[in-house]
This record gives sequence, structure tokens and C-alpha cells, in this order.
Amino acid sequence: MKISEMNLCIKATLAYAYSPRENTGSGGKHHIQAQELVQTGRFTRQQGDTLCRKAQRFWGLQTCLDQNQNVTCPRCLEIAEKLRTAQ
Ligand SMILES: [Zn+2]
Repeated sequence: MKISEMNLCIKATLAYAYSPRENTGSGGKHHIQAQELVQTGRFTRQQGDTLCRKAQRFWGLQTCLDQNQNVTCPRCLEIAEKLRTAQ
């Protein structure tokens, strides 16, 4: 699913990163990167973090030039479900 189809209640962009070491072999993924502070309950992300983890825990995280691609990070998708405007 693309970010533009998600109706997120936050400003977010698509970002690509290579997997951290524990996921060697799984290749890079497209993540959802928050463009503003996100706070719902105990969940907090700073601007520039992805939904699945803090930006500094990635190697080579960068905003995608083509925003019209699917998010492929399962954890980001799962968290995005909770950040829909409909809820
Ligand atoms: Zn992610």
C-alpha cells in the first residue's frame, strides 16, 4: 500500500533503508517516515524517524524521490493501521 492511500493522521513520507544487521539477507525496505512529532499513548516518534524505529538505528535511510511506491516494511504498516484518520 502507498502512503497516499493510507489516510494517515500524521504527515509522513516514504523512505528507503537497508536492513539493520539482525536482518541481513532480507534486503532493504520502504518505510513510513514521520514528518512531524508523533505521539499516541506511549508511542512516540520524532520528525525523521520511521514508524518502526528511530532514524539513527538505520544505515542509509533516505527519503524516496518516487513517493508513489508501496510500503514494504511490515512493522511500519502495522503501526500505520493505528494512525489512520478514521480511528
Ligand atoms: Zn519500517
